[in-house]
Amino acid sequence: MAFTPDGLPPLRDVVAAHGLAPKKALGQNFLFDLNLTAKIARSAGPLEGFTVFEIGPGPGGLTRALLAQGASRVVAIETDPRCLPALSEIADHYPGRLEVVEGDALKIDLAAIADGAPAGIVANLPYNVGTQLLINWLTADPDAPFWSSMTLMFQKEVGQRIVAAPGSNHYGRLGILAGWLAHSEILFDVPPEAFTPPPKVTSSVVQLEPLAKHLPCQLDKLERVTQAAFGQRRKMLRQSLKPLGGEALLDKVGIDASRRAETLSVEEFCALARAL
Ligand code: SAM
Repeated sequence: MAFTPDGLPPLRDVVAAHGLAPKKALGQNFLFDLNLTAKIARSAGPLEGFTVFEIGPGPGGLTRALLAQGASRVVAIETDPRCLPALSEIADHYPGRLEVVEGDALKIDLAAIADGAPAGIVANLPYNVGTQLLINWLTADPDAPFWSSMTLMFQKEVGQRIVAAPGSNHYGRLGILAGWLAHSEILFDVPPEAFTPPPKVTSSVVQLEPLAKHLPCQLDKLERVTQAAFGQRRKMLRQSLKPLGGEALLDKVGIDASRRAETLSVEEFCALARAL
């Protein structure tokens, strides 16, 4: 068997040896290109001294890149038990640096595992649960986030929604939540053919860093306002926000009732949430 620069077998051989035929229901689109996995790991910044969470390591391509890049501690959470033998070979190769947790990342409390240590999240996320995972991490504790950076692969359209500014077609609830709590940017796009099997659409690697201080407002109120406003995205706010007070609420914060949701800044949504 041929070996790669990290001394482990090529990923295609790992997949064949462990019978890891990709399962669509688990969002399994694997990365075999070592240059690409190294680029993602490098984009995450210095990893020494960090607990790096990787969601969905699969056969371990990105996991290996993170370890080769110097991550002191990688905690990899994988729901598919078929991947565990391949991951334990990587753990043996990097003694004491890789912990594999079998389970559903939607139900696992990363903050509790990090236990106050500096933490980052780096992942080629399963697309079916990627947005919900991001929302969970963003909102886990808005005043004291457990993560200091996230470097995540999403479908490009989701990436555009995360970084969207007012006035953009992609601007909506996700962009407001992300903009309230973090600075985010799309680092680079990844074409479908980089994955096995190729997904239908282009993907993007997005980086998020928490804001030193977010605008004061309560998460549940912000969600109520953005849900109402974008639930009827094309209507004027006097109409879409009617259940929350309509014109009276808008008057309180000096926002013209004839405006539409997508024209309001994150600051204006926070002001509405505070006035609720
Ligand atoms: N990191 C690998 C790579 O880049 O080649 C695999 C990425 S693949 C897009 C997504 C991975 O997430 C799969 O290994 C899949 O089994 C796993 N996964 C899917 N749903 C999950 C969940 N709820 N919790 C943890 N892992 C999950």
